[in-house]
Amino acid sequence: MASEAIIKALQEIVGEKNASASPAVRQAYSRDQNYMFNEPQQPDYVVRANSREKVQAVLKLANEKKIPVVPLAAGVNIRGLCIPTRGGILLDMRPMNKIKEINLDMMTATIEPGVTVGQLVAACRKKGVRPAIPGSPATVSAFANYMLRGVYHSNPQDGMDHVLCMEVALPTGELIRTGSAAISTSYGPYCRYFGPDLTGLFMGVPGAFGVITEMTVKLYDLPERQEFIVFGFDDWQRASDFAIEMMKLEIPTLLWLIDWIAVAVITGFTRRQIKKKVPMKALPVCSFPFLIEGSNEDVEHKLRKLDKLVERFPPDRDLREVDFTSAMSPEEFLGGRNVAGMLKMGYYFALAFLHPMSNGAEIFSMFEEIGEKHGFEKDIVSFVSTPTRSGPNNWSGQLTYSEGELFVDQTEPGIIDKLRAFSKECVQTLLDRKLIYSWFRPYATVLDITLERSGATGELLRKIKNLLDPNGIMNPGKFLD
Ligand SMILES: Cc1cc2nc3c(=O)[nH]c(=O)nc-3n(C[C@H](O)[C@H](O)[C@H](O)COP(=O)(O)OP(=O)(O)OC[C@H]3O[C@@H](n4cnc5c(N)ncnc54)[C@H](O)[C@@H]3O)c2cc1C
Repeated sequence: MASEAIIKALQEIVGEKNASASPAVRQAYSRDQNYMFNEPQQPDYVVRANSREKVQAVLKLANEKKIPVVPLAAGVNIRGLCIPTRGGILLDMRPMNKIKEINLDMMTATIEPGVTVGQLVAACRKKGVRPAIPGSPATVSAFANYMLRGVYHSNPQDGMDHVLCMEVALPTGELIRTGSAAISTSYGPYCRYFGPDLTGLFMGVPGAFGVITEMTVKLYDLPERQEFIVFGFDDWQRASDFAIEMMKLEIPTLLWLIDWIAVAVITGFTRRQIKKKVPMKALPVCSFPFLIEGSNEDVEHKLRKLDKLVERFPPDRDLREVDFTSAMSPEEFLGGRNVAGMLKMGYYFALAFLHPMSNGAEIFSMFEEIGEKHGFEKDIVSFVSTPTRSGPNNWSGQLTYSEGELFVDQTEPGIIDKLRAFSKECVQTLLDRKLIYSWFRPYATVLDITLERSGATGELLRKIKNLLDPNGIMNPGKFLD
């Protein structure tokens, strides 16, 4: 419930135009496409902040008055992470959108929360470098994406962690810096500090420990040459086996295994055509696009290794002669600018996790079976994998990212209950059968079930949350409360 005194105090901090309790403004922040799992709820106040000092002052006030605060960097996470479950202040930081520095000496960029992926990629390209590029729309916040750890469609060999250090406003309004940024006379905020990793403390936390006001992230070289190749398999297990062979030989920098339905969605087939299985005539069961990149010599060497592998282990379809680039460039195909096709299919449900590539086929069948049991037409359960193996920043075991996906018509009566039951059974089966290492962004539907299995570690996390945020004001309902 909005109070006159609070809105006045907020307006004093950010200016009259930047703090509002008007129902029309609040309504705009009350739901996202995950409303089936996260019920719509209006904030009491919407505050737009354009500096760290204003963020600090808002937090100080909120903490004194015990008002919930929901930070928002771009607000397109589509997983309910910015829905003000318990009302309070929606802290919109889109006006904080400066790229403060691109440092080619240290290969870093220092950015504010509102900097989008598109903005950062464009600024880096002008300087001949690139940041890690997630497979999301270009409008998401690079800042929030790196903080939540994403799936990157540039080079998975760069790893999942791209943040070097941060500036964080704690719920009390106090400002801390992590990594070498903590040292006032440091050459720059570029590398990790000694002792425990304080940057890691704020990673993967959806706004529940404080508000990050600035971060310094890693940049990477642009490759001299890229080759985009597509194979096809009519058997998922053979495709996984081929992927493992390719990873052992360190041929691709990026590879995907994509179920025909997912390819049909992103290449523009309609829902009706997919239901009638029209794309099945044109597409293999599993499409296998991959990217080889590096210097000219590296790419030549990798292509020779690929030829040898194909002689020994021929894919079912070699689509090297097909010119995919006439319909869509490799960058569009692999770079995530095609995701609009997904949203036009209706509600996009995705359960995402990390597991070894070798059990991908088993997980795929599990999704189909549970999907069928809950009345989802077998063929609209699809599955995508991005194996991320080896490379200087990565572990060299099998760390595969996958999603079980459903595209449903949200106007269908009873669909919410059906979807909840499907989701719950998938979560429990994946954990009970020990099929996965970890969830990708374990929020909403999976966090509680997972914490129940985390024993003393879960308890320690709760204690850390209470220490940092004793009044429980930070993004309540999303993490550890
Ligand atoms: C169709 C689609 C496909 C996608 N595919 C991918 C993909 O393949 N790979 C990938 O990596 N991503 C993908 N994403 C994007 C990814 O979901 C978002 O990058 C990520 O969730 C962050 O969302 P956002 O940038 O809108 O941030 P927001 O929604 O603004 O914030 C996300 C969370 O971070 C918190 N937060 C925001 N700013 C701060 C701050 N300054 N301090 C503390 N907490 C903060 C918020 O409270 C919220 O909990 C996809 C998104 C869409 C819409």
